[in-house]
Amino acid sequence: MLILALIMRNKQSEVLKDISENQLKRSVGLYIHSKENNLRNTLNDYTYWDETVDFVKTKDPEWAVANLEGSLNSFKFDAIYVFNTNYQEVYNKTNEQHPQLGKFPIKSDIFKILYKNRYVHSFYYHDTTLIEFLGSTIHPTNDPEKVTDPAGFMFYARVWDRELINEFAEVTSTQVKIIKNIPAKQPKEKVNDLTIYHPLNNYLDEPQAYLVFYKALEGYAVFSKFSRFFIIVMVIFCVLIIITLSYTANKYIYKPLVIIGESLKSNSIAKTEELQPYTLEFSEIGNLITQFLQQKKELEAAKEKAEESDRLKSAFLANMSHEIRSPLNGIIGFSELLKERQSDEKVHRYASYISGRSQDLLRIINDILDFSRIEAQQMEIQYTTIKIYPFFNELEATYSLNNENSEIKTKVIFRRGENISVNVDEFRLKQIFINLIDNALKFTENGTVEVGYQVAGSNIEFYVKDSGIGIPEDKLKIIFDRFRQINISASRQGGNGLGLAICKGIIDLMDGKIWVTSKENQGSTFYFSIPI
Ligand code: ADP
Repeated sequence: MLILALIMRNKQSEVLKDISENQLKRSVGLYIHSKENNLRNTLNDYTYWDETVDFVKTKDPEWAVANLEGSLNSFKFDAIYVFNTNYQEVYNKTNEQHPQLGKFPIKSDIFKILYKNRYVHSFYYHDTTLIEFLGSTIHPTNDPEKVTDPAGFMFYARVWDRELINEFAEVTSTQVKIIKNIPAKQPKEKVNDLTIYHPLNNYLDEPQAYLVFYKALEGYAVFSKFSRFFIIVMVIFCVLIIITLSYTANKYIYKPLVIIGESLKSNSIAKTEELQPYTLEFSEIGNLITQFLQQKKELEAAKEKAEESDRLKSAFLANMSHEIRSPLNGIIGFSELLKERQSDEKVHRYASYISGRSQDLLRIINDILDFSRIEAQQMEIQYTTIKIYPFFNELEATYSLNNENSEIKTKVIFRRGENISVNVDEFRLKQIFINLIDNALKFTENGTVEVGYQVAGSNIEFYVKDSGIGIPEDKLKIIFDRFRQINISASRQGGNGLGLAICKGIIDLMDGKIWVTSKENQGSTFYFSIPI
């Protein structure tokens, strides 16, 4: 646009200048021609007249004074010459101010041209004076077309003095001067200046001098000023548009695109949120990316969970086959031994071993069945109202053997509070306690296991506290997941990773909660609360 404006400006300047130049040339040409014409008409009047024809022969001085001299004064030219057909001067009258015109200065070959054309117009540059000559052949009155042979020749001469030059200057509104030659090296013209050279030729059409017209183009200067101002305004406008466009593009397009790229690269939802302040489209894209990243995260988490679950299931199956096979092997082995004759004491020992192993097996099978029931949502809770004391008494009796057994160094202590009544599934409540107490004993080599409760609003909150190996902080939540076993390498007697999952399943069914607090190497406390 700017380039177009510049081209247009130059083109307009050229056109404007051309118009001014042509106008000036035309008016100069017209004016010079009209000046010549005025004089030519007078000359013409005198040169087809019988009296002038006679004068060439008679040279009558009186006639010359009355006619020729008179026209010299009234038509304001500076010399008059009359020649006969032999080109001999018969009359000359010269203005006193220009005595140099006393002698006809032009070579005689001008007569040939004059003879041929009947009229001649020629400039002559003498010293520093420019003289205009008009020549005409002389004919009788009845030959205004000048077809007859000339009877003589008449010339008018006019000096182009300061007065005439000033007249030119005034008429053309220019500065005018006369120079002999156009300077070979012309001074460089200013854009809003106009100079034209008008040649002033002799009878052979050779330039004798030049009229120089100089004009300062004011309209052009105004145009030039205005167009420069217009272009500057346009440049500023374009620059402002470019700055605004690049600022807008950077702020509203480039930056959000960079954020989109970065958030996709870094999978960062926080980064995507930076798109919120942008336009509706970009904030929508931001929302889509956030959704996409969240779904991706969820899918990854679900995949991880599925893989973890798969791993746990495999570990569970491997562990379970071991857990089931070892009591079965014991049972089979000791049963084989019983077939043979044995002492009573050995029979008793083997039988109690077989019974113990069968109990283990039964427990495992029960766990599996319970777990399956919970998973299949088939477990039913049989509510009965029980008192805490008798319930604890029975539980205590189960573990009293433990306490008497000198091999098991960890003792189980029961703390009784208020002997309240609770509405629970007694069998399942016992199952929960056995699981928790067995675990506590399993992971406490030498210490105490404390079992107790307290009333918390409409709930009863039981606890089983041990002084065992504890559970790492990061595992506290996941131990309630099925198949989870944390302390695989710790000293322990088997386990299938179902105990706590079953406890949680039952407690959930009784509208309760289970949780644990623990410190590694200091012990754990399992709490569970159920509605009274
Ligand atoms: P398991 O039959 O393997 O004991 P559980 O579901 O009963 O299965 O327990 C899951 C895991 O929780 C255990 O393997 C053990 O790592 C951890 N755990 C449970 N109770 C305790 C406890 N009292 N002290 C330390 N770790 C425990």
